[in-house]
Amino acid sequence: MTETIRFDGQVAIVTGAGVGLGRSHALQLAARGAKVVVNDPGVATDGAAGQVTVANSVVEEIIGNGGEAIAHRADVSSIEDVADMVGQATEKWGRIDIVINNAGILRDKTFAKMSMDDFRKVVDVHLIGSANVTHACWPIMRGQKYGRVLLTSSSSGLYGNFGQSNYGAAKAAMVGLMNVLAQEGARDDIRVNTLAPTAATRMTEELLPDEALALLAPESISPGVLYLVSKDAPTQFILGAGAGCYAQTRIYETPGIVLLDDENTPEAVAAAFADIQSPDNQQPMPNAFSQTSKFAENAAKARGLTLSWGKE
Ligand code: NAD
Repeated sequence: MTETIRFDGQVAIVTGAGVGLGRSHALQLAARGAKVVVNDPGVATDGAAGQVTVANSVVEEIIGNGGEAIAHRADVSSIEDVADMVGQATEKWGRIDIVINNAGILRDKTFAKMSMDDFRKVVDVHLIGSANVTHACWPIMRGQKYGRVLLTSSSSGLYGNFGQSNYGAAKAAMVGLMNVLAQEGARDDIRVNTLAPTAATRMTEELLPDEALALLAPESISPGVLYLVSKDAPTQFILGAGAGCYAQTRIYETPGIVLLDDENTPEAVAAAFADIQSPDNQQPMPNAFSQTSKFAENAAKARGLTLSWGKE
């Protein structure tokens, strides 16, 4: 098939790209023409010091395949490290078109047993790390009037997973960050999407049977990632991906109910709970104000009033 999606002349930063999913995204981007910053300090799954040369190995692989890449060992949770990485990339290549926030660690424990240090460390790498890298590249993308940002979430954050309160909270926060950045970036053609992957990597190898691991190769996910950071990418899209399967996750709001004045009691809320949850005519909300205006309009209508949104 013809490769209509290419990245020639574009520069991409992929965080945590020394192994696993990040490595696969970096290799596939480079194979389609992108110049890639392979970021990885080479830490262990829990963030402890590990194999520091992993980023260099991926760079060698890319160059061996005829591509262009540089390694950077920034810890994404350090603003200084990130500034240095973004500085080196722009000095060498003059622009940054794509940021793939992929770096991540795990420190699983039930909430009862988790220390707040472990909670904070996981939020620091996933959420603050993604914000640090994206924030450093944001003015560059605004100046170019072009940018593609990918955030990496997880089914643990979207749907919940026992023993991952720190990770689930950080991963669900990716959706909040995406929702706002997609709206703020739109005028400068900066598109922001979220990946919810499921792959056989060192993060999951203990959890899955061998046959499932064979199907869930990281390489089966990267084509979806390449589409989400391409010229014709959507924006504000949550893509679930694994084993060559792709699906969209969406947040909907039900039409709901109105309880007026004396009727607005906890007992009435309990009695109306089936109606509050009824999925008939549920809608995605385009932005935060849509909910405000919906509720104000519904309440006004129930009182026989008409609202005018223009300020006098
Ligand atoms: P992995 O452990 O194989 O790779 C993660 C990489 O991130 C490592 O190379 C590590 O050195 C790097 N890293 C860790 N802390 C870093 C830091 N502070 N700065 C820069 N790099 C850092 O993990 P993976 O399975 O490839 O996961 C990649 C991403 O996908 C993570 O964000 C993870 O949470 C997410 N994810 C993975 C799965 C899965 O099934 N594997 C599922 C859902 C989400």
